[in-house]
Amino acid sequence: MGRLTARDGQGGPGRTRKVSQSERRCPEEGPRSCRSPPAPVCPMDSVGVAAAAPDAGPGPAWQSKCPWGTPNTTSISCSLADVMSEQLAKELQLEEENAAFPEVVAVAEGPFITGENIDTSSDLMLAQMLQMEFDREYDAQLRREEKKINGDSKVSISFENYRKVHPYDSDSSEDEVDWQDTRHDPYRADKPTTTPRRGFIGKGKDITTKHDEVVCGRKNTARMENFAPEFQVGDGIGMDLKLSNQVFNALKQHAYSEERRSARLHEKKEHSTAEKAVDPKTRLLLYKMVNAGMLETITGCISTGKESVVFHAYGGKSATEDKVIPPECAIKVFKTTLNEFKNRDKYIKDDYRFKDRFSKLNPRKIIRMWAEKEMHNLTRMQNAGIPCPQVVILKKHVLVMSFIGKDQIPAPKLKDVTLSSEDMKKAYYQTLNMMQQLYRECNLVHADLSEYNMLWHDGKVWLIDVSQSVEPTHPHGLEFLFRDCRNVAQFFQKGGVAEALNERELFNAVSGLNISADNEVDFQAEIEALEKMNEDHVQNHGKKLSTFSSDGDPPIYDE
Ligand code: ADP
Ligand code: MN
Repeated sequence: MGRLTARDGQGGPGRTRKVSQSERRCPEEGPRSCRSPPAPVCPMDSVGVAAAAPDAGPGPAWQSKCPWGTPNTTSISCSLADVMSEQLAKELQLEEENAAFPEVVAVAEGPFITGENIDTSSDLMLAQMLQMEFDREYDAQLRREEKKINGDSKVSISFENYRKVHPYDSDSSEDEVDWQDTRHDPYRADKPTTTPRRGFIGKGKDITTKHDEVVCGRKNTARMENFAPEFQVGDGIGMDLKLSNQVFNALKQHAYSEERRSARLHEKKEHSTAEKAVDPKTRLLLYKMVNAGMLETITGCISTGKESVVFHAYGGKSATEDKVIPPECAIKVFKTTLNEFKNRDKYIKDDYRFKDRFSKLNPRKIIRMWAEKEMHNLTRMQNAGIPCPQVVILKKHVLVMSFIGKDQIPAPKLKDVTLSSEDMKKAYYQTLNMMQQLYRECNLVHADLSEYNMLWHDGKVWLIDVSQSVEPTHPHGLEFLFRDCRNVAQFFQKGGVAEALNERELFNAVSGLNISADNEVDFQAEIEALEKMNEDHVQNHGKKLSTFSSDGDPPIYDE
């Protein structure tokens, strides 16, 4: 929550829409294409200039590589005067560029301005300058937007991450195809003799320049290690491979574009929910809650799970809500990444309460349904008097509930507390009772019940995390219940509660069913048979059994 800071005043949340548009514009469109330098294949599209460049003699290799066809080198019909004027124009242009973009030129200094590359680098430089100019404009605009949005509002939003000139990007010369640039080359120290300052070693015939194929080749191979870790370079680094500059540069280009691409993908991933900062939409939701006075402050993150991030907040004094806002709240933000939701859809897809809606919804809305489900289930539990968080408000995929714990410290999970044997026994009977209440009064099976989702607070067990809870007649409801029973029975048996029922006894005690099988395999087979029976009932009668038939009310276990 580093980006949410409390200040006085107010800001118009509506205006923030604009931001998200400009934010979105950044990774997708824009002159990203300008950023990567033009492919170094066909250096010139103008025949005249190509002819004028003394070193760019269009040999056969050059011709075969040009994607725009083979220029007819024999029919160059430009006079010396033309060539001269071209060069003059270029010089003038360069001068102009120098004056207009001094830093850019500084970046491109060396291999581009001086030496033989002067002609071929011009397009590249132009692209760089345009990009640079665009970035600067973009950032200035972003700064204006940021200022406009934040104003003197209570919560300020930083657009830092959307700036174009990132530390990585600002040093754009790093991106260029420039194998000679050894400023950041970790291999330089190891091989000081390969590129001496004067550009060659040895004497007379045995002279070896920095352009020596073998030396460069080895060096290029070694430098592959500088590529991003995800970039597969195979075993090449360990072998005596000699990569030509051309091959190395192509690889390097590819490595960089891959790195960029994966950074972009990563960026998108973080548009869901990350620990440090929730995505802009969620931030806006939280911001609205603070602004509306529902929440006083959002203090920090309590937990980051696979499916949700939970924050702590101090409750505010909302006038509009009829409910009293608890002094401390837990905000559960359901993750909007979709990979996790796949694993869970079996819970909601077969839950008849959501059946009609499931098929019509997009994944984003389904995630909201998880939050909604948790809210409904908590409300049912609350009504039955089961200790659990009290729902404060649900907004899209953000559920605000009362905080179990005190002074920002959440109550410990049952797995993390050491209870006296007396408390352990108490916790056991309470859990058993809650499971029965949940089943009979709330018509629910927790479906993820374990010492991880039970908190110990105020001398009793509190149930949390009920977004996946289902009704017992869910096609897998009884299986889920059996799993819950196994977790609970094992935990309390290991915890030294001698009275603790085993998983099968617990299952019967909670469900009121009388499954007599004395081993787990048969027991599970019977559970599945019951579920099947229920499904057949749906097939034949078009509706589910309201409940599984049992031989009278199960005994109530108590201390
Ligand atoms: P997940 O699906 O990520 O397991 P949970 O609802 O179990 O989500 O919440 C994750 C953790 O956040 C819990 O283990 C608990 O420590 C904490 N937590 C969740 N809700 C509350 C709450 N109402 N009060 C205090 N802590 C909570
Ligand atoms: Mn949990």
